[in-house]
This record gives sequence, structure tokens and C-alpha cells, in this order.
Amino acid sequence: MRDVLNEHTCWYVGNGMQINIWRDPWVPSIPGFRVEGLISSHNRIHRVADLIHHSQRCWNTTLICDCFNEFEANAIMKIRLPCSDEKDVLLWMQTTNGDFTTKSAYRTLHQMEPSSSSTSNTNSKFRWKSYWKIKGISPRIHLFLWRVINHAIALRSVLARHISTVDPSCPLCQKEIETTDHLFLKCELVRKIWFGSPISLRIPDNDTEFTLESLFNCWLASPSSYEVLKLGCAIIWSIWKMRNRCVFENFKPDIRASIQMAIHIYNDHSPSSDLSHVEAPDITDHNVPLTQRWNPHDATTVKINVDGATATRTIAAGIIARNHLGDVMNCRTYFDNTWIGVDAAIEAEARGFLKGLELAREMHAQQPNTRFVIEGDSKKVVSYINDDRLIYPWRIRSILQDCSSIKKTHGFLVSFIPRLENSTAHALAKFAISNKLSSSWMASHPTCISESVLFDRQAIIDD
Ligand SMILES: [Zn+2]
Repeated sequence: MRDVLNEHTCWYVGNGMQINIWRDPWVPSIPGFRVEGLISSHNRIHRVADLIHHSQRCWNTTLICDCFNEFEANAIMKIRLPCSDEKDVLLWMQTTNGDFTTKSAYRTLHQMEPSSSSTSNTNSKFRWKSYWKIKGISPRIHLFLWRVINHAIALRSVLARHISTVDPSCPLCQKEIETTDHLFLKCELVRKIWFGSPISLRIPDNDTEFTLESLFNCWLASPSSYEVLKLGCAIIWSIWKMRNRCVFENFKPDIRASIQMAIHIYNDHSPSSDLSHVEAPDITDHNVPLTQRWNPHDATTVKINVDGATATRTIAAGIIARNHLGDVMNCRTYFDNTWIGVDAAIEAEARGFLKGLELAREMHAQQPNTRFVIEGDSKKVVSYINDDRLIYPWRIRSILQDCSSIKKTHGFLVSFIPRLENSTAHALAKFAISNKLSSSWMASHPTCISESVLFDRQAIIDD
């Protein structure tokens, strides 16, 4: 069953620390998301992190070309790395946003379920059906317990089998091997968490029958224990978080903080406050100004209009910055005709916003007292950037995260305007496609948009 679900998961590459190059699914454009590589490279590189120049946040292309055939190398280098050092995230592919939903997992499990006569699967006794139906667990945590029970997390005991330099001992107590049951139940520190939590669970000492699986299965047997189970899931999660902070950030284990975190998570996910189901707001047209022309801001504001365009295997974007008089201060085009993905339109729009925000950041460094507004005609992308609780397509995750980080850091505004008011950026994006061009113009612009720029300026004078 683990393999079945694995077909539907893919790692989002952050810093690559958690992803095993050879075993894990992590290359979205390759069927099965896994790479084979050249045999000679299997002992040379292990984690995806090995393939990244971390200081520059880019791929080590020389190494990648050395270790993979051309097809795989290109597919890897197509993965966009986020600008900041982020953790890797395991995404669930059955939904467009990449987050796991219980419904989609349940559907998959149901379709793939072994027949009742099949007892080959060691987890067949676990009450997955009941488990997936439980509401009020954060989707991430819901999937996490599934991964824990299926030994699909990177514990040291597992890593040590593949990487000789890994110390298999528990990072919390350093006394025993880090296995699932040790880390989440039997470790002396973790026992204190279970006992100190509202569940007040006493973990028996040398009972080999008492496992994480049996504990959760027991809770799953009766709906009256579901609330306890939910808190149990939150405890598992916070143990994992604490463990990772100890491993990666040299923190000391903090029992009280772990219990508090678990209670916090549990409270946050009562069905009424569950934000994971918030959909993008539908900004209907009567909420926007009636004018169909581009509008400048006041004299202290620079407005940057962005738009995306697409063609076969191609995404492009146009970016134009103007002052309150409609003078062009800067314009840029983005062009990529080796694009692979599923939704070119939204990715082109997202690229446009990122380029626009990057331009704003550069200009802001020169003129720190100026305000910047980045405008485009994709309601969806505007909502994704402005509200990070929204469910967005997983394939453009790194672009959107970079957008929202630049926006927040510099206090820029990102807003929606109707398409007709965005005609100059639109023309520029089309220009990028027809001329196959990524370029930049300072205080000028390609002549093909001159008419559009003049039209927008005229609109200011008319007003
Ligand atoms: Zn331990």
C-alpha cells in the first residue's frame, strides 16, 4: 500500500537535504518522478542537496551532467529552486495544489485496496479506512502518520543502511537506535511528552506488543477515541519537529514546548477553524473600477504592470514600470521555450509577477522612498501571493513563495486589474513570444508597445 501511495507523491525540492536522489520521487517531469542516473554515480552522490550550489541557490550543472543521462539531467535542471533555504516538502500529486487531502488519499487507497483474502501486507490490519475518514486533522499531519506507520520517513536507522557515515542513534537520547517505535514512543524523553500531555499516557517499559501502530489502531477501533487520536497525531508531529530541530539546528530537546505545540496544533484544527479549505476569493468584476484604461498612482508610487503569454512549450511574460505620468522607467521580458509542465498560463502569470517583484526590489534599492505596486490581470495569482493560506498549484510553489517573500520583505503591493487596463504588459508578453526574447530596457521600451504606452499616457491627460 505504501508503494501505491508513493506513486502519487513527489518531493518539492527546497534545500534537498531530506531527499534521496536514487530512492525518492523528486523530478516532476519524469514518469514516476524517479531518476536512474549513471551507475558510476550511485556511490558518489546521495542527497539532492549534493547537486545544489547552496550559496548561489542553483544547480551544480557540471556534476548533474556527469551523473545523469541528458534526458534526466535536463529534467533535473528544469526544477526551479527557491531563492531562500527552504525545507523539502513531500507533495501529494492527486490534487493540483500538491497538498494531501484525505479525500484523494482515501479514493486512491480504496481503488488500490487489496482484496480481503490478501494478507501479504503487514499494514493490512491498520484501520486506514477509518483513519482517512477522521476530520479535523491538518492534511499534512494526516499524511505524516501514514508515512510514520509505513516507515516512510528518514530515520537515522534507515539512513545508516544507505549512508555509512550516518550515526543510527536516537538524536534525542543518544542511547538507542532511532527506529519508529523508539523515536515516537519508547525514547525516555518522548515518554515524558506522552505522559505530560493531556492524554497522560504511560508507555509500558518492555512490552514489544505495544507499538505505535497498535496504539493508533486501538484508538481507531472506537469513534469515542477519535479526539484522543487527533491529539496523538499532533504529538507525533511535534515530536518529529523537535527531533528535526535537534538534528538540523542543534536545539536541545524541550518537552514542555513539544507538548504545547501539540495542543496548539490540535486546537487549531477543530473543523470550524480549518483554513486548509479556504478557496481563492472570487473577485467579481463589479468590485473593480469601471475604467477600462490604465491608471497611474500618485507621484510617490511606481506602478509595475505584468502579464504572461504562452505558446507551444513556451511561457513568456512582459513587465513594465511607469511613474505617475505614465513615463516608462524600465521594462523587461521573460521567455522560456523549453518549458515542461501542465498549466502554462498560470505559470507564465506567476513568472510575470515574480519578475515584476524582482524589478521592484532593484528599483526600491535605488529609490527607497518610492512605493511600488505590482499589477496583473490574473485574479488567481494575485490571491495566491496575497494570501498564503490558499491552495495553489504545487508546480508553481517555488515561484509563488519567492513572490510572497519579496512582497513581504519590502512592503510592496500586489493587486489585480482587469485585462483591458493591462494591455501594455500584455503586448510586451506577446512581443517576448514573437521575438523569443528575454531582455531588459532602461528608461525605454521596444517600439511595438509605443502606441499602447502613448494610449495609457493620453488617458492620464484626458482625466
Ligand atoms: Zn531516544
